Amino acid sequence: MTIKGSCHCKATTFEVSDAPQTVTQCTCSFCSKRGALWAYYVPSQFKLTSPLEKVSFYRWGSKTIKDGFCATCGCGTFTQTPDWSTGEPDFDNPRISVNSRLFDDFDLGQVEVVVIDGKNLW
Ligand SMILES: [Zn+2]
Repeated sequence: MTIKGSCHCKATTFEVSDAPQTVTQCTCSFCSKRGALWAYYVPSQFKLTSPLEKVSFYRWGSKTIKDGFCATCGCGTFTQTPDWSTGEPDFDNPRISVNSRLFDDFDLGQVEVVVIDGKNLW
């Protein structure tokens, strides 16, 4: 089931191929301020349907992750990251973390929220 999402001003629009089984709330210094609930996809499951030029990227810390946000309205949209499931960045397996709060017509309240301790992990 394709889910569409957009930032507040609609300068960024995107689609993902499937509904998330869980979404992740991360306690790291960035995510706790941004307030995103992350849904994880491989790049083939994510399609940006608006011009990439409308997206700005924030890089911090080790700069291995590109945190995208709308250059117009500021909504955190999606993140380009290596796979971290082993605890180390796997650059051969890129992932897209999507801010599920931006999904349109989707009931996030039905999805389990998993908290990860990013504050102490990175
Ligand atoms: Zn926007």
